[in-house]
Amino acid sequence: MKIIHELSSYTTNKIAAGEVITEPLHVVKELLENSVDAGATKVDIQIKDNGLKSISVADNGHGIYLDDAKALFLRHATSKLKDDSDLYSISTMGFRGEALASIAAISKVDVSSRQSSEMQGFSMTQYGSKLLQLKSINRQVGTTVEVTDLFYNTPVRERFLKEQHRLRQHIADFLENFAFSHPFIKVRASLDDKVVLRTLGDGRLDHLIYEISGEAILKKLIPFDFSIQDIQFKGYLSDISLSFATTKEMRLFVNNRIISYPLIKEELLRAYEGLLPKRRFPYVLLMMQTDPSKVDVNRHPRKAEVKFSDEKDIVTYLKDNIRDVLRGKPMMVEQSISEPKVNQVLTTYEPLNVEKETPITYENLIEANSVISEIKLDDYLPEVKSQSILEEREALFDNFKVDHFIESLQYIGQVFHSFLLYEHEDKLYLLDQHAAHEKILFERFLESFENKSLQTQMLLVPITLKSHASEDALKPLASMGFELDQFGDKELIIRGIPHLFSEDEALTFLEIFLEEDRESLDLSAIITRSCKAAIKANDRLLPIEASTLLDQLKVLKDPYTCPHGRPIFIYFTRGELERRFAR
Ligand code: ADP
Ligand code: MG
Repeated sequence: MKIIHELSSYTTNKIAAGEVITEPLHVVKELLENSVDAGATKVDIQIKDNGLKSISVADNGHGIYLDDAKALFLRHATSKLKDDSDLYSISTMGFRGEALASIAAISKVDVSSRQSSEMQGFSMTQYGSKLLQLKSINRQVGTTVEVTDLFYNTPVRERFLKEQHRLRQHIADFLENFAFSHPFIKVRASLDDKVVLRTLGDGRLDHLIYEISGEAILKKLIPFDFSIQDIQFKGYLSDISLSFATTKEMRLFVNNRIISYPLIKEELLRAYEGLLPKRRFPYVLLMMQTDPSKVDVNRHPRKAEVKFSDEKDIVTYLKDNIRDVLRGKPMMVEQSISEPKVNQVLTTYEPLNVEKETPITYENLIEANSVISEIKLDDYLPEVKSQSILEEREALFDNFKVDHFIESLQYIGQVFHSFLLYEHEDKLYLLDQHAAHEKILFERFLESFENKSLQTQMLLVPITLKSHASEDALKPLASMGFELDQFGDKELIIRGIPHLFSEDEALTFLEIFLEEDRESLDLSAIITRSCKAAIKANDRLLPIEASTLLDQLKVLKDPYTCPHGRPIFIYFTRGELERRFAR
């Protein structure tokens, strides 16, 4: 008896389809990759019913020879690889020659194409394993592939019909990433006849962001471009006034492919540490370009995971560079943190809308203050608005990039026991002394904690605090420089506190720590809250104290925003003041 037999090509293709094409998105992806491989500079994508009805991709690539038409749907038929030696120098996206064969096994495929050196094109229809028609036609150079009735002969179709929302989301995400990966391809995509994506293909990242993420987001992004060890890092990142609930808006690309690189993502998030509210994530578009030999690619069906050869050094520099970029624009802070809105740029001017009767030491300011509340801030905006976004950004960049900026500030005085005034070049700066103090405590504490260099100062007289905290819950405190004993199950005896804190500050810290929800212990949030609590309002500062504050601020990693992400400095230009006086 003989039971082993060769499977028909139809069956093997169908099996392969089960591996290559597990949802409509994969068809979109394969078709687009073929267009890219064909050198297209323009692609038009039309998808109906999330790909279950039809997927059509038209490109202006080099097209297909009529003589190759019949081989299109053969498994392992490709124009991209001749023999195994080519395997090591592949630059195209596809090369296995199984996509079209697999797709045709589970759908109806119409291909029409004209090769750039041929006068006529062809059109053909393949349904399952059958070639239904092949004829020559007149058409422009390029290729159009239309896939209909996807999965018609497979059991998964039923399931997909119920998951339309998920399919749509996958397709939409992929299309965005595709557009970002190919800045020089003009992409147009529509879902159920509605255009969802349109890019210019002019290679400009800012135009891509404008088209894909929108103007409101673009306005809050800072451009960067630097190199570390032959790797170019280029892109945009959000300033601290823009954040999201997930890391979905953080996109990393290596050599124009979307990739996942957890270590780099982590490092980026670290650069934002203390700048964004708790559990919020930035917008990052990071394009990395390097010699392919410097990256290890671990291909994953969805997203390649890559690794640079000298990863460790690169990652450290990356974080520092990103921090610098973020510091470059510290004062453009808006009050609204989560919802991006255009034209709110000047909300930071609010502190000047003060009550008239408050005593002010600074005469010029008294004059200014008495008229300000009647003038709409919008009146001062036109100049800024008319500038292009990039110019605006560069101007701000120039202003604050300099690290010795703080040193060049000239102290004028204190107002309301809350704000310190400084002059520098043609600007009047106001520093929020409480935000500054809070930030100083915060950074110092966090840093000592991270470096495990928190020393304990013993108290002369131990303090007793009421607490029901378990021994486990108290454990982290020891590593923070606290020395304590539990007394019974209601009392806590504090014998030593971190040397950075005064007694008052330490107690506030402890109270907040003990209140926090143990399940989600978020150290930086606790530190933020306790540092805030440790600051006393309305402190009169002597000039020498004011200058000490500035000295302390100067050495911080980020002296421009408080741990809650609010600005520490704001400024007015001479021009703005003059306009308010109607000069
Ligand atoms: P692969 O891309 O791995 O070679 P496919 O099954 O995706 O395999 O495509 C088979 C062949 O069909 C390709 O090698 C290419 O020659 C041709 N082809 C497919 N789509 C296009 C297109 N849009 N433009 C030009 N040629 C194409
Ligand atoms: Mg292919």
